[in-house]
Amino acid sequence: MDRVVVVGAGLAGLRTIEELRARGYRGAITLVGAEKTPPYDRPPLSKKVMTGELSDTSLRADFAKLEADFRAGETATALEDGVLRTDQNSHPFDRLVIATGATPVRLPGEGRQRVLRSIGEALELRALLRPGVKLVIAGAGWIGAELATAAASLGARVTVLDAAATPLAVAVGAEVGAQTAPWYAAAGVELLLNQAVESVQPGGLALAGGGWLAADVVVTAVGVRPAVGWLAGSRVELDRGVAADEGLRTSVPGVYAVGDCASFVSRRYGRRLRFEHWDVALHAPEVAAANLLGGNEIYDPVPYFWSEQFGRMLQYIGHHGDADTMVWRGDPAGPDWAACWLEDRRLVALLTVDRPRDLVQGRRVIAAGATVDVGRLADPGVPIRDVARVLFKPVQRVASRNTQEVCITLAGPMSVWTGLTCGTFGAWHRSTPWPTLWSANGSHSPTLLPASASPSAGSGNCCATAS
Ligand code: FAD
Repeated sequence: MDRVVVVGAGLAGLRTIEELRARGYRGAITLVGAEKTPPYDRPPLSKKVMTGELSDTSLRADFAKLEADFRAGETATALEDGVLRTDQNSHPFDRLVIATGATPVRLPGEGRQRVLRSIGEALELRALLRPGVKLVIAGAGWIGAELATAAASLGARVTVLDAAATPLAVAVGAEVGAQTAPWYAAAGVELLLNQAVESVQPGGLALAGGGWLAADVVVTAVGVRPAVGWLAGSRVELDRGVAADEGLRTSVPGVYAVGDCASFVSRRYGRRLRFEHWDVALHAPEVAAANLLGGNEIYDPVPYFWSEQFGRMLQYIGHHGDADTMVWRGDPAGPDWAACWLEDRRLVALLTVDRPRDLVQGRRVIAAGATVDVGRLADPGVPIRDVARVLFKPVQRVASRNTQEVCITLAGPMSVWTGLTCGTFGAWHRSTPWPTLWSANGSHSPTLLPASASPSAGSGNCCATAS
């Protein structure tokens, strides 16, 4: 195997190359990127780039050191057996990684509408955000809220409208999203809810129901779609993105997918998922590169996302569905709070507002699949690490009979595994072949051991997370 082609020169594409080299791959690498710029970071585009604090978000890729052939401004057009076709070349490959990210959805209409995905789009938009300019943002999601924050701080007259009844309705649900609505007015931003757009026209927006909203500048921020159109006609299966298995392999042998474009099978959540998270673009390439080089690793993150809006830091960890129960932690009208989602008393997701410690501790509890004491979880004075049940119990002995069965001997009154219910143990089987082990040294500040740590034998300073 001596030719790897990576398609898409964003964070996920660059990280794939870095991982391949770090893992000792010495063959040829070609990176094909539709944009003319070297890889750069996107999260600052709606934050510090928009406010003018930053103009360059380059990831400072050193292609000479990486010994990679970077083809800037070259767009992949088709994938055939062993050959990538672009608008300029054909690239034969032994292995290929798809990292083409996502493209913003646009609204119908003849009027000029801007989107915010590339550095060029961000810099052009920034130049328009003069004091008094009337900016209308369609979409009160993460990017709409961040752009509104920056534009209002620059003196623009900002209106955000959304077809849903609350901001962030799709991302975190109406009940939690509603708590962010007052932030708009406090920042001097007009928020119009339950208001769908019919089309973008010169000078403004035609609204469903017959209304008209005048605008100097219109930005559409209603979501993105995976950039997979170029794969039409290939043997790569698509399913809400490039369909990948739990090791990020696509339906075509030797072809992998990472980042915003990839929908992968999550063991943790038992279903296919696709995320538009920076953290996924950062870490998924570790697994894709390992497997491309003959490994057999599983990508199974506790997904993480953050957003900076209206002077607040929002962090979301985990994944929840409509059926999960939501519990407030603290007063959502106050300055800092969290929303916690539970599935059968197991903490599965957490949104924190200016509570970074909750986020760090919540990540561990979610990763462990632990059940929690709901009453204590709702009390913001109790550290989240202390609300998990049967969490961090000292383990005397861990032994395995085969790759599916693990016997854990807990210290103290909960000896042997009588404390573990069959259901709990079954959940373990489904989520990961080995339970997550924590090295605790008797303290409450456990460190995560590698997920691959074999519990075939062990004793002493370990704690098992038994939900
Ligand atoms: P991309 O960054 O989209 O890179 C894909 C690359 O592939 C692009 O350069 C594209 O031009 C190229 N490409 C597409 N099609 C082709 C083709 N046919 N041929 C060749 N090249 C092609 N995430 C967070 O977690 N927190 C945040 O606060 C946050 N803020 C964000 C703010 C903004 C404005 C944006 C746009 C995103 C934000 N994100 C945030 C999301 C995060 O940036 C993405 O999840 C991440 O960039 C995904 O990386 P990627 O490499 O998978 O895709």
